[in-house]
Amino acid sequence: MTLLSGFEHIVREKEPLAPYTRLNIGGSAEYFAEPTTRDELIELVKRFSGEDQSIRLIGSGSNLLVNDTGVNGLVIHLAAPEFSQIEVGENRILAGGGAKLNHFVATAVREGFAGPERLVGLPGTVGGALHNNTNAHGVDIGTWVQSAEVLTRAGEIKKHNKESMSFGYRQSSLNELVILNAEFAFDSEASEVLTKAMQKLWIVRRASQPTTEQNAAYMFKDVGGDLASDLIEDAGLKGTRVGGVQVCDSDPNYFTAEFGSSSDDVLKLIAMVKSQVAERLDVNLETAIQIW
Ligand SMILES: Cc1cc2nc3c(=O)[nH]c(=O)nc-3n(C[C@H](O)[C@H](O)[C@H](O)COP(=O)(O)OP(=O)(O)OC[C@H]3O[C@@H](n4cnc5c(N)ncnc54)[C@H](O)[C@@H]3O)c2cc1C
Repeated sequence: MTLLSGFEHIVREKEPLAPYTRLNIGGSAEYFAEPTTRDELIELVKRFSGEDQSIRLIGSGSNLLVNDTGVNGLVIHLAAPEFSQIEVGENRILAGGGAKLNHFVATAVREGFAGPERLVGLPGTVGGALHNNTNAHGVDIGTWVQSAEVLTRAGEIKKHNKESMSFGYRQSSLNELVILNAEFAFDSEASEVLTKAMQKLWIVRRASQPTTEQNAAYMFKDVGGDLASDLIEDAGLKGTRVGGVQVCDSDPNYFTAEFGSSSDDVLKLIAMVKSQVAERLDVNLETAIQIW
């Protein structure tokens, strides 16, 4: 039996990862899988972990920089409908880890569930958002989580309840291999009120955020009470460029990348921004983006 026996229909070899990331940068995954069922996912993880292969999970790739050299081992993409379901209960949503964040937000607003309207316009999946505890306009996704089902690297399913999870600024305790789904609870609000609030926030976000056609990343964490955007602007770094990668003018915490840019260009620009902010403002920036 080979590593891929029985999984040939869901695993591809040397799959370029750039198209799966918002920066559109990066080399190939040695193995890339899109399982269609939960059982298939579990068996796949057990096979690869049994062979000591590294395993990673990719969501929408909106918080990822993949090195041009690519990654060894397996990358799993939860693209199948099985992992993207959104079910609605009384003041509750059960969302699959692969569900799109904008689907989650739209569902909450339609149902009159307050809070998620503030996450309007954020790219990503529910799983990716929980992994990083994505936040915007004073709320983070961890606020509403009641429980989460995860798959460990050994291929075991575990359920976390509210007490066994913790969420901080841009971090969560949910660091197992796969967040399969999570249940959220909300306060009620009239759907029309939430729709109006969402529309206003969307206008604000659209004014500063790169368009969906642009390759982009949201780069650094805020530091204490200081927004990373303000720090980068105060250091005079708006518009700074390395190769095809540039600090965005409208909000300098975004980097945009021309097609064909390299991971090295992004890494060099990250290093340049960090060192200039440290030198000019005596503040150490930390990246929010995950680097593979
Ligand atoms: C234009 C733009 C604007 C943004 N604005 C904001 C913002 O306002 N606030 C903010 O907090 N972030 C923001 N981000 C960052 C990004 O949108 C979020 O971090 C998003 O939640 C990442 O989700 P993803 O599915 O794309 O994760 P990915 O980038 O695919 O993965 C990120 C990490 O999460 C892990 N992961 C993904 N899915 C799962 C899963 N199901 N189970 C376990 N681990 C998983 C991956 O392994 C990886 O380590 C922005 C990004 C862009 C490009």
